[in-house]
Amino acid sequence: MRSINAESRLTQNASGAPGPLHLGTGVNQSFSLRAPSFPRFMRKGWDTTIFSSCFVKGLGFSRAISCRKISLGFSPCVVFIILFCLFLNSYAAISAQSAPPAPAPRYMVLIDAAHGGDDSGARINATTFEKNITLALSVRLRSLLGARGIEVTTTREADKTIDADQRAEIANRASASACIILHATSSGTGVHLFISSLTPARDQKLAAWRTAQSPYVQQSTALAASVNSALTQAGIPVTLARINLRGLDSMTCPAIAIEIANPAAEEGKPAAALTDAAYQAHIADLLATALIEWRAEAHR
Ligand SMILES: [Zn+2]
Repeated sequence: MRSINAESRLTQNASGAPGPLHLGTGVNQSFSLRAPSFPRFMRKGWDTTIFSSCFVKGLGFSRAISCRKISLGFSPCVVFIILFCLFLNSYAAISAQSAPPAPAPRYMVLIDAAHGGDDSGARINATTFEKNITLALSVRLRSLLGARGIEVTTTREADKTIDADQRAEIANRASASACIILHATSSGTGVHLFISSLTPARDQKLAAWRTAQSPYVQQSTALAASVNSALTQAGIPVTLARINLRGLDSMTCPAIAIEIANPAAEEGKPAAALTDAAYQAHIADLLATALIEWRAEAHR
């Protein structure tokens, strides 16, 4: 918690607790627009033109036959329409088989294990620092996402000093679809989710360093909503707040800071600790689930 409290400014309510974000309202409106969907065989302009022309000419020919009162024992127009429909069905089936599969959209997650090296972060217990917990969580999350076929980039894989600007630079070079900054604290319980306190902006081309997150705030809010949903459904207490955090504010991707605290005490069970491997694995699994759900959201 040291870094978040010491290095940044929280938006807090009167009681001193992080202020609610009301993630359920106005979230992700920019993703709601979808292109109209057409049958596969109609997606090329020339196909539609040729089929329309053939249909009109064929129908005219059928009518001409009918007008000449040639007794064929059936209506030429009806037969033509049936044959034309059968042809379209066959064409659509052949097109579907011969069309190459569309390449899967790129989805990459950036995991930033906060602190490291000279920066130990908060002391969690007599032998463990925050930097140890964040790295352990990062390794678990990377492994879980990798096992599910998701590309992952991390800012560190060892006990190494990296400053906030370097972390943002790694994230921005990677063009990540989601950026997750991991912190840990021995105070409180559950998980604290933070998004940037920057004012949302529309123009992504004019984003400057330290305010680069501004055009992504809305997407970051939607990402926080996905993570919040996965955690709360699993019974993990979640606190939501906005924060002024240098690394987060400089990232050009949907980004959130996640601070893991001790698990909430359960009745009849001994209290687990933040350092508990099973608890860390559970949190990492929930985060992986949320990020996989977010993939669908990000690609809409
Ligand atoms: Zn921290």
